[in-house]
Amino acid sequence: ILDSWLARLNRGVLIVVSGPSGAGKGTLCRALLEKEADIMLSISATTRAPRSGEIDGVHYFFLEKKEFIQKINANSFLEWAQVYDNYYGTPREKVEEYLSQGKNVLLEIDIQGALQVKKHYEEAALIFIAPPSLEELAKRIYGRGTDSTEVIQKRLRLASEELEYIDKYDYCIINDEVEKATERLRAIVAAERSRIYRF
Ligand code: 5GP
Repeated sequence: ILDSWLARLNRGVLIVVSGPSGAGKGTLCRALLEKEADIMLSISATTRAPRSGEIDGVHYFFLEKKEFIQKINANSFLEWAQVYDNYYGTPREKVEEYLSQGKNVLLEIDIQGALQVKKHYEEAALIFIAPPSLEELAKRIYGRGTDSTEVIQKRLRLASEELEYIDKYDYCIINDEVEKATERLRAIVAAERSRIYRF
């Protein structure tokens, strides 16, 4: 019996982080990856245009819509979703390879994607990153200055809708201070590595 449990514990943990735009999930994920060498970041595919400084194959795999749809049809995505006006998806192959090699995998994806992942991988740890308040969220999005006012308004509306999904997640981290929030995230990952599954 111990052997079968060891086999299970030797598999990597699938960590899924989402939360509204501006909650700081990108910052927390980067901090986590810096501190934990054994977590692999899954690089998503998207049809969105690269922002300045974004590199194909590093931040995203930037695809034409046609290519993206071909990959959907070929079942190449673990999950995919339309977010704002673009498609985003997690390439399946790498994630499965890492997990079977015992490596932990981090997905930074939207809520629709996270819920799809949970359907296929019940053992995935879904972590919601929430802002301390909607006012603070608005401040952060405006402060970032990368998007137009119209896009910001859209993101804020979507954010308040997204907060309703917290109860579908396994964990919620309020990102009040980056350092504290990073430590909470690390603690969750550490706990997940030792978790006993009852399904
Ligand atoms: P952005 O365009 O700002 O990079 O990302 C927009 C949203 O898409 C974010 O909430 C981000 O987490 C989400 N996203 C990024 N990659 C994926 C993915 O592979 N799948 C899904 N479902 N969402 C993603």
